Amino acid sequence: MYSTTESKCFAIFAFERDAPAHNTVVAGGQTTPFHLLNFNNNFNIMKKIYKAHILFTKERSHFEVFENGYVAVGADGRVIGVAADLASLDSEDAEVVDFGDRLLIPAMNDMHVHAPQVRNQGVAMDLELLPWLQNYTFPEESKYADIHYAESMYRRFLHTQWLFGTMRSCVFGTVHTESTRLLMKLYQEAGMGALVGKVAMNRHCPEALSEDVEAAVEGNERLIAEFNHPDALVRPIITPRFVPSCSPELLSACGELANKYNLPVQSHLSENTSEIAWVAELEPESKSYGDAYNRYGLFGQTPTIMAHCVWTEGVELELMKRNNVMVAHCPTSNYNLASGMAPVRTFLDEGLRVGLGSDISGGHDLNMFRMLVYAIQVSKMHYQSNHEKHFLTLSEVFWIATKSAGSFFGKVGSFEPGYEFDALVIDDAVLNFDNYTLLERLERYIYLGDDRQIEHRFCRGKLIEEPKVV
Ligand SMILES: [Zn+2]
Repeated sequence: MYSTTESKCFAIFAFERDAPAHNTVVAGGQTTPFHLLNFNNNFNIMKKIYKAHILFTKERSHFEVFENGYVAVGADGRVIGVAADLASLDSEDAEVVDFGDRLLIPAMNDMHVHAPQVRNQGVAMDLELLPWLQNYTFPEESKYADIHYAESMYRRFLHTQWLFGTMRSCVFGTVHTESTRLLMKLYQEAGMGALVGKVAMNRHCPEALSEDVEAAVEGNERLIAEFNHPDALVRPIITPRFVPSCSPELLSACGELANKYNLPVQSHLSENTSEIAWVAELEPESKSYGDAYNRYGLFGQTPTIMAHCVWTEGVELELMKRNNVMVAHCPTSNYNLASGMAPVRTFLDEGLRVGLGSDISGGHDLNMFRMLVYAIQVSKMHYQSNHEKHFLTLSEVFWIATKSAGSFFGKVGSFEPGYEFDALVIDDAVLNFDNYTLLERLERYIYLGDDRQIEHRFCRGKLIEEPKVV
């Protein structure tokens, strides 16, 4: 049981792993039985100070580690400061919550994921990109015309993201405006952050998923009118599926929407060599695949994130740098679809912004901690075959997944002052059976842990409770 003589503190919540029945809330000198319900009810109304073993990456080269440290979070959900001792923080009127021997780390950001492909997770993993789209992806997305089907699948999807501690996402929906709206409402209901895209596509796809340009603009504008508020956790993102599935008129309309409403853009880029050859045929005027987006105002004119970039180099890489386009690196779909290995070390050295994506269901795993592992493994294979300068380290992939990715949402992914407090409380006792250092404990959790060790999740300072599945 943690206690303190700090008289300024309003309350101290203590968490004892071995004796949960005896947890107590100490408030105003009175000791009362602790219930999680009380913790929730009081949680979002005042300044908080959390005590735990705090780890995060301010720089990609190393972790900041505070053993038994403190992080202060304002009523606005933003970090005020981190310190090794309570006396260094202004604790007046603060509620102090002691998480004991647990780890406190930034939450995960999934920078590229297709929510309507949740049913196909782990299915058809032996196909390449283009046949996989035709035979699995498009037939499944057609089902999202049915709002009831969409709700049952989207609830399951959101719940899995919550389980694994993913508090922000860049998400593809489908062409269907109503089911995309529903997905946005479900994120709002859950309190989790997301940029959600109604997918634009009108060629080289089944009739059921093809939408004419006017309908695409109208559907997007409906969602923009309802959700496009500057500080909202859930906002629209303009989402042309990829160049082959959008006519020049549709790409133009997407660019106009992004620029008119100052909305971010997401799409796919240079994933597969057959796809790149196809784009070169479709857009002969463009100097590269990326330039095809650029010509329609979809490549950094507003904040832009492009998934994959496996084969990005030369003029395309230069254009991404110049336009500050972020890469969503999706290591599992790179190898599941036999696309290749993205040169992430080169991207970092060139100063490109990079985040990590699960790419369900080209990727098979919604656990973003596993994505850190896969990113390191893919990087090691790339290092072997391409003799890059060095493979990625743990602090680098952690930084990519948290602070670097989080920059797409504003100040997210770190515990530096002013950052939104997106955090996970990890109880790794089951993995911590010897004298591991805190960094070893975090590494073991990343490699060996799962949702069972995530005890609490926070998004923008709020405790996020388990969303309903049905
Ligand atoms: Zn994708």
